[in-house]
Amino acid sequence: MAATGSSLHTGAVTRFAPSPTGLLHLGHAHSALFGHGLARRAPGGRFLLRIEDIDAGRCRPDFSAAIEEDIAWLGLGWERPVRRQSDHMAEYRAALDRLAARGLLYPCFCTRAEIAREVAAAGHAPHGPEGPAYPGTCRRLSRGEREARLARGETHALRLDMAAALAEAPAGGLSFEELGEGRLPADPAPFGDVVLARKDVPASYHLCVCHDDALQGVTAVTRGVDLKAATPLHRLLQSLFGWPEPLYAHHPLLADAAGRRLAKRDGAPSIRSLRQAGHAPAAVRGMAGFADGA
Ligand code: GLU
Repeated sequence: MAATGSSLHTGAVTRFAPSPTGLLHLGHAHSALFGHGLARRAPGGRFLLRIEDIDAGRCRPDFSAAIEEDIAWLGLGWERPVRRQSDHMAEYRAALDRLAARGLLYPCFCTRAEIAREVAAAGHAPHGPEGPAYPGTCRRLSRGEREARLARGETHALRLDMAAALAEAPAGGLSFEELGEGRLPADPAPFGDVVLARKDVPASYHLCVCHDDALQGVTAVTRGVDLKAATPLHRLLQSLFGWPEPLYAHHPLLADAAGRRLAKRDGAPSIRSLRQAGHAPAAVRGMAGFADGA
């Protein structure tokens, strides 16, 4: 399987941004090799590794160390220092404060069960890329009630007021440039009032990924096609914050001989286990879809 026939602009900056929730498997290796290969083929291209570890309950430092060890073993080089999101929570907080100051966020006190009940009671709910859109319960709280609940210290998430955010988006609508496909429309509305700071983690994947890609000067977001559906929301966040628009390069997900997606939960072999079984890096790169080397 060839990585892609397309190539990137001079000075392209790509990245591999895993969450250290387990050992890397072949699907991850494919993603890392994809981003690395695109940067390597671009004149003056650069490749970054970013550890997306805001979820302290699921991420572990030993998995983070294993990621670096495994991709080095595969033959990849990346720039240092590596950005670890958990070291930068104050920056994400500051970004959220900027949206809050513009009236684009509101606290949501609902539990998952309460949301599920509301959605069921409504009979139908618009379905977004992350499931049924939030019914807006806490958006409709009176100012007094909201303040009283905050004063009582009730745990809450922070949600984006999608209608208010869309009102600030460019008049002609949002779009994104996909490598090899051209410009595609981006409609974030189906996400509804998406969570930007979780109850248990005071940030979210969507916020941190856009924040860091902008901060780190990533010019080409290289990742699996399973995240393509998130791109319209990412374009909205980039527009709200005035962050530059990167190019997107979503790669197909690696599948096994039977066409099943290789994911950890399906028992995809870890790079570590292949290495321990005596396979050479070039052989594992081949299994990860890059027979032509890293
Ligand atoms: N951290 C995300 C993951 O492991 C990937 C983020 C991205 O590439 O945008 O699924």
